[in-house]
Amino acid sequence: KERGKNNWVRYASGMEQAAQAHARLGGELRRGLDAGEFRVVYQPLVSLDTGRIIGAEALVRWAHPERGLVSPADFIPAAERTGLIVPLGRFVLRETCRQAAAWLAEFGPDALAKVAPNVSVRQLHDPDFVDDVKAALADSGLCAERLVLELTESAVLRGAQALRVLHELHDMGVRLALDDFGTGESSLSLLRAFPAAIVKLDKSFVDGIEFDELGTPAADARQAVARAVIQLAGALGLDTVAEGIENQEQADRLHRLGYTVGQGYHLGRPVPPEEITARFAAEAEQARRSQPAAA
Ligand code: C2E
Ligand code: MG
Ligand code: MG
Ligand code: MG
Repeated sequence: KERGKNNWVRYASGMEQAAQAHARLGGELRRGLDAGEFRVVYQPLVSLDTGRIIGAEALVRWAHPERGLVSPADFIPAAERTGLIVPLGRFVLRETCRQAAAWLAEFGPDALAKVAPNVSVRQLHDPDFVDDVKAALADSGLCAERLVLELTESAVLRGAQALRVLHELHDMGVRLALDDFGTGESSLSLLRAFPAAIVKLDKSFVDGIEFDELGTPAADARQAVARAVIQLAGALGLDTVAEGIENQEQADRLHRLGYTVGQGYHLGRPVPPEEITARFAAEAEQARRSQPAAA
């Protein structure tokens, strides 16, 4: 009995600590947002045909004054719980559209086919979300067709309201990508209701896909999923992106399976916008040099 009581006390104080930590993080997020501590980094989306950058995924980072650069896994869940994901997501969306329009102005209309921020389910349920997207496009001058919103399957699955919003965005010309495809619960039935334009093959099917020793069921299964997803996408008229490519063998294997766009550390890490600008400039210079001199 005595021990049971002690356990209870320890349990209760543990819960209290967790609740306090959550409240603290919520307050910190609010402060960080007001202080302008959030940054957007960009990870290249790369053509597996040419090796050239065709777009970028936008990923948020928190430049915390004491904790340094904090990764989204450590604050997105708290931002979703507290609702702060709505103003944070609005910031990411606006900043991404502004940056994409600047790249297009500098490097021309062929440089960047798409820019892709992530959107959380809480944002889809925010009554102002569609207006926020419209305003971000109008204020930046970015055309809707170059904006891709990345959503996870679980986000999309949550209800009719979210689906209505997605159809409205689709009708505006904004493209929707199903992120981490294949890891959700009902990927296939979802594709019927959801106006997706792009599916992103999850990294878990790319890890180890380059190994094909006979009798390695795990690698065989990954290849089977990767092949099934590309066939499904082809049949439904969807584009694909293979995520989490970490070496050339994986890129080659996916390319042979039919994937034409890839993303991953091997093709480019998430970096500040200046580094993407430098990559565009280097590629433009290379294209200029390989062009025969004008007569
Ligand atoms: P995600 O949307 O699936 O983004 C891909 C994540 O995989 C990124 O992690 C990226 O850095 C990482 N990654 C890319 N290539 C590789 C690779 O080759 N190997 C490995 N090991 N990892 C790779 P990050 O930036 O830490 O973001 C994690 C997740 O946080 C994202 O997953 C996304 O769901 C969420 N997130 C990021 N930014 C935002 C945002 O602005 N809003 C919302 N709602 N969620 C965000
Ligand atoms: Mg994503
Ligand atoms: Mg992803
Ligand atoms: Mg992911």
